[in-house]
Amino acid sequence: MNCWFTELQTPDLKISCRVKKILHEEKTPFQHLAVYDTVQFGRMLTLDDVIQTTVKDEFVYHEMITHVALNTHPHPRRVLVIGGGDGGSIREVLKHGSVEEAVLVEIDERVIAVAREYLPEISFALDDPRVKVVIDDGIKHVGEKKGFYDVIIVDSTDPVGPAIGLFGKEFYQSVYDALTEDGLFVAQTESPFFNAELISRITRDIRDIFPIAKVFLACIPTYPGGLWCFTMGSKKHDPEKVEVEKLPDLQTRYYSPSIHKASFILPPFVQELVREEGGQGSGGGR
Ligand code: SAM
Repeated sequence: MNCWFTELQTPDLKISCRVKKILHEEKTPFQHLAVYDTVQFGRMLTLDDVIQTTVKDEFVYHEMITHVALNTHPHPRRVLVIGGGDGGSIREVLKHGSVEEAVLVEIDERVIAVAREYLPEISFALDDPRVKVVIDDGIKHVGEKKGFYDVIIVDSTDPVGPAIGLFGKEFYQSVYDALTEDGLFVAQTESPFFNAELISRITRDIRDIFPIAKVFLACIPTYPGGLWCFTMGSKKHDPEKVEVEKLPDLQTRYYSPSIHKASFILPPFVQELVREEGGQGSGGGR
């Protein structure tokens, strides 16, 4: 079958994957949602023709957006995931024995329904009794909470449509307010190759609000440029001061105690993006 899915990653760059079968397509009230069975990456979920997750490489993203944060907090009990309708972040959050409640706030219930049907290996943990699924705008949900969550994970789409506000300073202030006094949050913050200005601005905004602001990296083949940024804002705990030798074995395939440390070592071009004015740079340049 000569059928291809193509994502326009930037106005001048496309990625194409050969498709074995189109498994699902629909227009939801928020976006165009599709699932393809691809030769290279297995089943792949897309929103508005942008790859969200694939069975082959999802573990990198979901392990890194969760475990770095949850292992930085000494005892995370209440955890919020914003977006993340595929369920992959929730699956990883539940690997932490201290977690009593994991709340998923997803704006588009169809993403959850379709992930349950076509991506069971990613979404299965949504049925765990510790999970509460809320269909709502994450910005609104966070605005209604004060001093409530130990960890907030912003597992969002790119900064377009309903996700734009999830990359704004006002939202980061609401996140700060929604966290407990030693709480912390992490967000996926795009490609250092193609979203350089966005990453600099986000780092500045988070640094204005949180005493600790750090960027870390992972390699995700299906995201533009492959190299991907995550940004953490923390009230008290520093992800680079975690005693990694004491971390529990979480049965992961990308994250490990060594990767926890290594992910904060930034190449000079990324250090440059997140450098404090007049300072040494944040995010682990050594
Ligand atoms: N791993 C993905 C990536 O970086 O491409 C993100 C995956 S997850 C499917 C993103 C989810 O965020 C989508 O299902 C989308 O509906 C949801 N979303 C976007 N804006 C949102 C908002 N304001 N509140 C809650 N969920 C939102």
